[in-house]
Amino acid sequence: MTQENENQLEVYLNGEFVPENEAKISVFDHGLLYGDGVYDTLCGWNGYIFKLEQHIDRLYRSAHTIKMQIPLKKEELLEKVVEVAKRSKQKNLYLKCYITRGYSEKPLLDPRGCVPTVVIFGKPYLWLLDSEKSEKGITAKITNIRRTPDQCLDGKIKNLNYLNIIMAKMEAIESGYDEAIMPGLDGSILEGPGYNVFMVSNGKVISPPTENILVGITRETCFEIAKEIGLESAEQKITSHDIYNADEVFLSSTAGGVIGVREIDHRMIGTGQTGPVTKRIRENYFKRLENGVNGTKYL
Ligand code: PLP
Repeated sequence: MTQENENQLEVYLNGEFVPENEAKISVFDHGLLYGDGVYDTLCGWNGYIFKLEQHIDRLYRSAHTIKMQIPLKKEELLEKVVEVAKRSKQKNLYLKCYITRGYSEKPLLDPRGCVPTVVIFGKPYLWLLDSEKSEKGITAKITNIRRTPDQCLDGKIKNLNYLNIIMAKMEAIESGYDEAIMPGLDGSILEGPGYNVFMVSNGKVISPPTENILVGITRETCFEIAKEIGLESAEQKITSHDIYNADEVFLSSTAGGVIGVREIDHRMIGTGQTGPVTKRIRENYFKRLENGVNGTKYL
């Protein structure tokens, strides 16, 4: 490794581990040309990768639906993710694995003949929002941009087409809010840019049903925690009226954990700070990560 590469983490790219600045793919790659590919984001915490198998399973399900053959067996890909994490030497790590349809001689829409590109990289843990804000609670806007419905592209496919989500994020930020909450075509609350949404009402922890959303692994963990601490929970349609009047609202994501929402569309939520149930779930979540619960050790 040259001196220039010394501080760079290693990226897995199509069978090799290379320094970040040497990890290059073709400008003709279908992932770039058409957003044609799938991905998953994982995290390493205190040297453990949280729910590794679940993330890899989700990635393979996404690839299966878009009829893309990942050129590695599940166990092999899993090993490569662990190896990238190990080589990073970072105890708290943001990990991403993406597979694009890849390169073909003709850079046209027809995916036949494409050879998939496999990339796994790690970065010192990245928070979707700064960690202090995440703890205190954030402001959010229910965006005019609607989440793509399942009838057009199933939200359960974690795919490389995030323009709809990025536009919502831009709308919220440009309007002076920290984050976006996206409604569906019917106006009901669905999810955020990289988050699932929860509200707490009369002690019950509620998240929208799995239609038209990405079913988050952190979301699943929040439901597990709610059960463990004896709270009732449900998957239930949420309207903007419901969420404005909730006792607490929080977001869940691999990149940020559990994040309180203190205000939506200039309506104060509950007492206007991260609520007590959210705090308990957040603390329990990070404790699980810290202690390697459902974790795969890499350091
Ligand atoms: N919703 C969307 C659209 C996402 O992209 C993500 C994660 O990237 C999530 C929700 C949260 O999923 P997870 O908890 O598995 O990180």
